[in-house]
Amino acid sequence: MPHLSVKTCGRLSALAVAALGIGSALAHPGHPDAFGFNDGFAHPFSGLDHLLAMLAVGLWAAQNKRSALWLLPLVFPLMMVAGALLAFAGVALPGVETGIAASVAVLGLLIAFAIRMPAWASAAVVSVFAVFHGYAHGSELPHGASALWYGVGFVAATALLHLSGLAIGLVAGQKMAAQAVRVGGIAIAAIGGYLLSGAL
Ligand SMILES: [Zn+2]
Repeated sequence: MPHLSVKTCGRLSALAVAALGIGSALAHPGHPDAFGFNDGFAHPFSGLDHLLAMLAVGLWAAQNKRSALWLLPLVFPLMMVAGALLAFAGVALPGVETGIAASVAVLGLLIAFAIRMPAWASAAVVSVFAVFHGYAHGSELPHGASALWYGVGFVAATALLHLSGLAIGLVAGQKMAAQAVRVGGIAIAAIGGYLLSGAL
């Protein structure tokens, strides 16, 4: 169905343009100075690192199908919260920015090559990356209710991005559109490589 693939191509290029627009600050934008649901919700959309990794989790889940379909979009937010709690508790984790950048590069490549794994293995990959995404914010959160609402907003935005990636991936069930998703994976991987070069 050429209509569908054109549509998907359009979506992917729109996404790339949006990503490039947002991405003037390509490194992880770092520490917000306000805390609440809205700030938490806005943050994953404020930089390429979270945005692309979270979309990629949904896209990859759609490629893997079966149990990964719902497992990955559940595992990522849960392990992200675990990462935030690690930071909150003062546990040291080196290479956080590198881990976040690597998540974009690796997830992009997994999509580009349409790599399928057993559900437990894909969940493990996503879990490791999610810890870095959560850890980046746990250490800066003040104690109290505003931090909780920031976290709730952050997780809600993450879930929305996962579902967006999942929806794009599922719509792209046809062969042509599936190729477009893989091209999108290449773009994500390339931006991830760029982020990684900045983080190293
Ligand atoms: Zn961040």
